[in-house]
Amino acid sequence: MIDFHTHLDLYPNPIHIAECVNARNMFTLCVTTSPRAWLGTSRVFKRYENIIVGLGLHPEIAAVKINELEQMLAYLLEVKYVGEIGMDGLPQNRATLAIQKAVFTSIVKECAKQNGKIMSIHSRGAVNDVLTILRSNPGAGIPVLHWFSGTKDELRMANDQGCYFSVNPLMLNSTRGVSLIAEMPRDRVLPESDGPFARWRGIPLQPFVAEEVAFGLSRIWRMPSNVILDGFKHTLNKLTVLRF
Ligand code: MN
Repeated sequence: MIDFHTHLDLYPNPIHIAECVNARNMFTLCVTTSPRAWLGTSRVFKRYENIIVGLGLHPEIAAVKINELEQMLAYLLEVKYVGEIGMDGLPQNRATLAIQKAVFTSIVKECAKQNGKIMSIHSRGAVNDVLTILRSNPGAGIPVLHWFSGTKDELRMANDQGCYFSVNPLMLNSTRGVSLIAEMPRDRVLPESDGPFARWRGIPLQPFVAEEVAFGLSRIWRMPSNVILDGFKHTLNKLTVLRF
């Protein structure tokens, strides 16, 4: 079906999993963690028409890969999908927050200069900063907040700014995740696995979670899951027809 945020290149056997994903999913966004990873992965996955490789610089490694920022900005010209980018404000990542902010800001500014991209964004513990940077660069494109874990006020602000959200099965299994999902806009949610980083009972999530996510949403939103699955397709269409 759809997986809007997965790290296919980081599974133990990426080619095998990419073959399966390309056959089974109508659309998969394989995000990358650095521009060099994007370069290699997009070359190898070019033959898979249902897999898009996003150009990323992950916030948790932004400081050690700061020397790749220039490449990141240069390669942006070649892509429509950007990710994984963003900021992480967890205590263990706070020391690099200023660098993360500078990196994220320059990427978002460049996206705006290029008339906008579709961006898969990490915002854990840094939602306010992420939203402020996006607000200051309204032409940056469509932000899709992946694994959103902010407060309800932050969710409302993100919603008001037109953000989309990608939701994974782990969010459906947490009380906080469920209460946030209840307030997400019905027409701006897409399924994601975030595998192989995201694990359920020790096993990495596979990039085939759309039905499971739709089932979870159907309980929270009190809507039939087939209507939600159709909704995913409409939401994806809205994004993919955008011409930036
Ligand atoms: Mn991720």
